[in-house]
Amino acid sequence: MILPPATLGMLGGGQLGRFFVSAAHEMGYKVWVLDPDANSPAGLIADHHIVAAYDDYSALDELANGCAAVTTEFENVPASTLDYLVKFVPVHPSASAVAVCQNRVAEKTFLADNDLPHGPFAVIRHDENLRDADEALFPAVLKVARFGYDGKGQARVANRDEALHAFHQFGGESCVLEKMLKLDSEMSVVLARDEAGNVRCFPPGENSHRHGILDVTIMPARIEPVLAERAREVAQTIAERLDYVGTLGVEFFVCGGQLFVNEMAPRPHNSGHHTIDACVTSQYEQQVKALCGLPLGEPRAHSAAVMVNLLGELWYDADGNYREPDWSVLQAVPNLRVHLYAKHHARPGRKMGHFTVIGADASEVLATALQARAAIGIRDDAH
Ligand code: ADP
Ligand code: MG
Repeated sequence: MILPPATLGMLGGGQLGRFFVSAAHEMGYKVWVLDPDANSPAGLIADHHIVAAYDDYSALDELANGCAAVTTEFENVPASTLDYLVKFVPVHPSASAVAVCQNRVAEKTFLADNDLPHGPFAVIRHDENLRDADEALFPAVLKVARFGYDGKGQARVANRDEALHAFHQFGGESCVLEKMLKLDSEMSVVLARDEAGNVRCFPPGENSHRHGILDVTIMPARIEPVLAERAREVAQTIAERLDYVGTLGVEFFVCGGQLFVNEMAPRPHNSGHHTIDACVTSQYEQQVKALCGLPLGEPRAHSAAVMVNLLGELWYDADGNYREPDWSVLQAVPNLRVHLYAKHHARPGRKMGHFTVIGADASEVLATALQARAAIGIRDDAH
């Protein structure tokens, strides 16, 4: 076991890393963050911030020398970086698990090979793959295999011609073509798995998106208990097949009463933020525990919770002027907790913070959260 006051290494300095640093600090650890951005949210509160690229090997040497174990919050860390670090220091999750989750072709192939439920898709590497694609896939979503997030690197295509056009727009990069599914709802399971293979699942959350970006998570998800149980089983199987160690997020589509895996995230997940406020152990504490070989904590929710993302557009008034949102509106709600990430500049669509409302009654919690969401100025809702 790695015990306090050991130093832990974190690849990536975003908000997920920042919450990891906070959790590790609470537990008595020190954290070094490696991120190329000198103003990264996690770097700002780390004990040491190595401002360097993920493939800067002297920086990786410094991290390996200074840390007892290394983890990641950024799924696009090159697998070669993790492969290099693991020669000197324990690294969790492994390069091979991250490699599957960071490439949509590898991810979809993994699901298909393991008989895990997923929607119809085709791998697109050349124009011919699109010409040969099953007509039944259309209308479809074409997604670039690498580096997509928050709906970026995706195009909705009605037919083969539009798909070809989008494929060329993406520069001919490898893609997956997914049938556009009619979603009843979306949900996610966040879990932690330790080196001995013990798995602890958080209760599934129900997710709604705006413009391809997570907007609201409702926990517990308002779905049939059998579906929730099935989602946990599938998520656990994924973690086992990947021999995953750490915190893992699995996104699901619910479609015609059936579950399909959408994608996996080899790190804590945006839809698991509420675990900080509503669960016995947070997803970030679990990441620390799994990394350090400590027994995993209890994932049970002690409250119902609704999480609302605060995106950069909130920083602009109706005339497009940049100004701080009126936080007193949120602070007035007693069972609401605000989390801001200290990002320097708010761009539309950028995740700047979130708030979580907790309480005993799930429908009251939802009503309070949606009221607060409207009061702070987030428009258009359909929950
Ligand atoms: P990201 O990496 O941006 O989260 P996702 O693949 O999860 O990418 O897509 C973002 C969102 O777009 C999903 O949560 C869902 O709302 C919608 N979406 C993606 N793929 C499909 C699909 N095949 N059918 C219907 N909706 C989809
Ligand atoms: Mg997603």
